[in-house]
Amino acid sequence: MSSLAPDAERAALERVPTELLIGDGWTAAEGGGTRAVEDPSTGAVLAEVADATPADGLAALAAAHDAQAGWAATAPRERAEVLRRGFEAVTARGEELALLMTLEMGKPLPEARAELAYGAEFLRWFSEEAVRIAGRYATSPAADSRMLVSRRPVGPCLLITPWNFPLAMATRKVAPAVAAGCTMVLKPAAQTPLTSLAFAGIMLEAGLPPGVLNVITTSSAGLVTAPLMQDERLRKVSFTGSTAVGRQLVRQSADRLLRTSMELGGNAPFVVFGDADHDDAVEGALLAKLRNGGEACTAANRLLVHESLAEPFAERLAARMEALVVGRGTQPGVDIGPLIDAAQRDKVEALVADALDGGARLLCGGESLDGPGYFFSPTVLADPAPDAALLHEEIFGPVAPIVPFAAEEEAIAAANATVYGLVAYLYTRDLSRALRVMDALETGMVGINRGVVSNAAAPFGGVKASGLGREGGPEGIGEYLETKYAAIAP
Ligand code: NAP
Repeated sequence: MSSLAPDAERAALERVPTELLIGDGWTAAEGGGTRAVEDPSTGAVLAEVADATPADGLAALAAAHDAQAGWAATAPRERAEVLRRGFEAVTARGEELALLMTLEMGKPLPEARAELAYGAEFLRWFSEEAVRIAGRYATSPAADSRMLVSRRPVGPCLLITPWNFPLAMATRKVAPAVAAGCTMVLKPAAQTPLTSLAFAGIMLEAGLPPGVLNVITTSSAGLVTAPLMQDERLRKVSFTGSTAVGRQLVRQSADRLLRTSMELGGNAPFVVFGDADHDDAVEGALLAKLRNGGEACTAANRLLVHESLAEPFAERLAARMEALVVGRGTQPGVDIGPLIDAAQRDKVEALVADALDGGARLLCGGESLDGPGYFFSPTVLADPAPDAALLHEEIFGPVAPIVPFAAEEEAIAAANATVYGLVAYLYTRDLSRALRVMDALETGMVGINRGVVSNAAAPFGGVKASGLGREGGPEGIGEYLETKYAAIAP
């Protein structure tokens, strides 16, 4: 137990509401159950939060349903201004929220601050989109009717988020839902509920009316959400997380034909062609691989490097990764925090062991570090066998496997040889090649000579087993709107 948390940590934790947000206030879970939230860098308990039951989940949905008609009828400008005030308040309390993210998720404070800016931007972007929900008017081709097309809020939504970006994954859903005029039940990940709870408190202070945003924290995700998925008051589920759980939710959504948005897993290829700027490619690879300690759906999972560069590229990357400081995210100078839990650390360890057994060469790292906490050393592996598991599964850790290739077609085929299709990165100085390869890559997003693609103004999302729908950009609000068409007599 960390009973000796420094003042700032204690102050941030003490300010977090730890009950469920249902309707007009914070309330204990039915039966008073709580669950512990741990610091992955120490294993210490940070806080106890309410452990919702299925009845609590349904109460949250009832509150969202009750608030829906009133919220849908508000002026778009009013919804925009709530979001704008939310943006200002989240930004003003940025240090406190960043610290919470570091404490419950482990990422170093500078990365938590970067997430704060990225996450807050969804509030600002969608405050601007709330007043631009447009329809259209036309005369039918035969001039026998006039056609009026308008957009209406979908209705009450269930929003389920993962632990890796505790603020941004919530704001990326909450902000467009609020802008569109939807009410919602937000269920954050069991490991990282504190940031979402603090964020919800801030939105209430910013003037979000009771019942629009309800938050349930629980250790029984499936049990609590399944009855909501079967309830006719729910109209949509938006999920970010693993492909396995996404598939389960899509199956459940079929019974009531719910609208779905699915932001699922990835297996991003990072392709470096022979004509690439070598320095840029190494720096881009570091960013694409190590943002969030490798625990990102957009993380470069496979580094495909032209054979003319593969050896020096691997050496340079290993030198850079070996020099990184691993430690508790609150400490100055730390580059890489812990993995989220023991299971994730053990999974990364097993993937590395499997690659080494199959003949991969270890250039740096390769091992779990002593606890407490779930640390793994930044690792570079050269020439893993084609069937090495880490080329086919999400690693979700600071491990970079490097695979050489000879021809452009070979690189494209290898990049696409996965069930996933979230993002790909490519490095080349040849514009025609960049556009040709971009077209050939089976992904929803492509980074060209860049190691980061995320942007609140851009449509984030994948194809194949990486999901359905897009978050961010004008597309993001569309996920929360239905289209209504009226035929009018001429
Ligand atoms: P996860 O295990 O699928 O969990 C995600 C969320 O779903 C959590 O809130 C979890 O609750 C909940 N959940 C688990 N089982 C459920 C069920 N049966 N019914 C309803 N909800 C359920 O994923 P994770 O390990 O937290 O996150 C990592 C995954 O997210 C990776 O695959 C990553 O690629 C993906 N991800 C994708 C994106 C994207 O935009 N494409 C962004 C970030 C992450 P509990 O925490 O209580 O289990």
